[in-house]
Amino acid sequence: MTDTAREGFYRQLAERLDDTRRQGLFKQERVLMSRQGPEVMCDDGVARINLCANNYLGLSGSEALVEAGVKALREFGFGLSSVRFICGTQGPHKALEARIAAFLGTDDAILYAAAFDANGGVFEPLFDEKDAIISDELNHASIIDGIRLCKAGRFRYKHNDMDDLARQLEAASGARHKVIVTDGVFSMDGTIAQLDKIVALAERFGALVMIDECHATGFMGKTGRGTHEHHGVLGRIDIITGTLGKALGGAMGGFTAGRRELVETLRQRSRPYLFSNSLAPAIVGTSLAVFDDLERSTELRDRLHENTAFFRREIAALGFTIKPGTHPIVPVMLFDAELAQRFAQRLYALGVLATGFFYPVVPLGQARVRVQMSAAHTREHLTRALAAFAQAGAELGILK
Ligand SMILES: *Cc1c(COP(=O)(O)O)cnc(C)c1O
Repeated sequence: MTDTAREGFYRQLAERLDDTRRQGLFKQERVLMSRQGPEVMCDDGVARINLCANNYLGLSGSEALVEAGVKALREFGFGLSSVRFICGTQGPHKALEARIAAFLGTDDAILYAAAFDANGGVFEPLFDEKDAIISDELNHASIIDGIRLCKAGRFRYKHNDMDDLARQLEAASGARHKVIVTDGVFSMDGTIAQLDKIVALAERFGALVMIDECHATGFMGKTGRGTHEHHGVLGRIDIITGTLGKALGGAMGGFTAGRRELVETLRQRSRPYLFSNSLAPAIVGTSLAVFDDLERSTELRDRLHENTAFFRREIAALGFTIKPGTHPIVPVMLFDAELAQRFAQRLYALGVLATGFFYPVVPLGQARVRVQMSAAHTREHLTRALAAFAQAGAELGILK
């Protein structure tokens, strides 16, 4: 490559970055100087209430889990330097897979480095050009990428629209196998997929069902098993993917759970599993401790839902518009992108960390500050956060 050709390439990158900045879409990372938690130390030396982590059960900075991690690190070492099938499987990997499967009510489960990989590696080994994938239009990026890697026919249904799902199932009726794919919970609105209706449609049309439980495992449903428990369809979902990187301690790692022959097929053929390193022992050992906690009591889950009900009620009482629902994701609607950004900045100045989302992450005119509750938030945290919302809302003319 000549120097001018090289410079041309880097100039194009710089111009595109400038465009992104001009459009106000540049993602600036906030630097934390502390553990993740309900309150975090920011790099300006100010502690702020954190309302934007996926730390639903408040486990991310848990002292007990740090101890479990240290114990696993001491016994099983830092890393495996191997993929699973060569020499990268330790006893705890097998134990964790069994625990995940038991918790979700499936035969077996397989670990990945991330849920992004679980979704990226689930379709291609299971489905080919004779099959059809029927996918909610708002499914997570990793599902979209996973479907792209697979030769199956692609059908997209309107978000959460059961009539359109039925139409797409009809359109896919020539396929050998059909699979309906949906996020169990959608991250921008906290919308819970209508799994009872989806399962009924799947039965009517002879389709399999796959759900991505990243915003559900550990706290949705009576005992926290997920959206399938919430909707009373335990045992009737064929494929469940999820993450260890949100409610379940928040480190990293993903999984796919399902019938024995399905999981075995993935172990043989799923590329992100075959060609990527084993999950680190400290993560595996700590995750086992997380499942011990979850099966011992529903206390964290219950506290999370109490906090959610309290915050939803109080923020609406202040006069803010929220997307109705029950999930700990609470979208506080500002509608206007610039206002959402200014509002988030004002909250930051008032000691609250919350993120503004605007087009293209959410539809035009649907800008918002997305708040996420945690079991680790105390009433005092939430009351202080609500006071900041009230003040910023009054200052910016949102509350009359
Ligand atoms: C966060 C998320 C993922 C990715 O999970 P990682 O384990 O961080 O890769 C996948 N799907 C959904 C719906 C998510 O919210």
